[in-house]
Amino acid sequence: MKLRVHAVEPRSRANGPGARFVVWTAGCTLGCPGCFNPATHDPRGGNEVEIESLAAQLAATRGIEGLSLSGGEPLQQAEAAAALLLAARALGLSTLAFSGYTIEEIRALPHGDAVLAQLDVLIDGRYVSTERLATGLRGSANQRIQLLTDRYRRAEVEATPVAEIRIGKTGEVVLTGVDPLKLRR
Ligand code: SF4
Repeated sequence: MKLRVHAVEPRSRANGPGARFVVWTAGCTLGCPGCFNPATHDPRGGNEVEIESLAAQLAATRGIEGLSLSGGEPLQQAEAAAALLLAARALGLSTLAFSGYTIEEIRALPHGDAVLAQLDVLIDGRYVSTERLATGLRGSANQRIQLLTDRYRRAEVEATPVAEIRIGKTGEVVLTGVDPLKLRR
């Protein structure tokens, strides 16, 4: 099974509690005005990657405590997303996903329940630019932190830094987080 992936960041501290492996899926049709990541919208963008390959990358990455799925819209590839989350859990990693769908909408999606069954934390709901928040992992105030297991407390999720800048060995600059550029203006 394959997941269409926009980007991967093997170690981030701005996408959930602790150091996390982050996968941004490619493809989103939800069209939130003011979306901060339009480069991820094309459902034919990025690359198709085997779940086994991503699981192997997860297993080889030292010092991470979890996997975060972002996008794009992970729930528009729900079956593959559930398979990747399952693989992360099998490695003892915690799991978190950002979705533009609400949890109620996810329950009605094909394979939506399978994704929820593999998640510790879900940040749900469309980004609403007029309710911009950009803190505590929520892009806007309508979005909710759904604690689906007892792995984390809400305060631990909310303590996630709003932005992160990493400069790679070859000089590439990686910006991530719920507020990578605007710094909550
Ligand atoms: S769901 Fe996320 S990626 Fe999709 S349009 Fe809304 S903010 Fe952008």
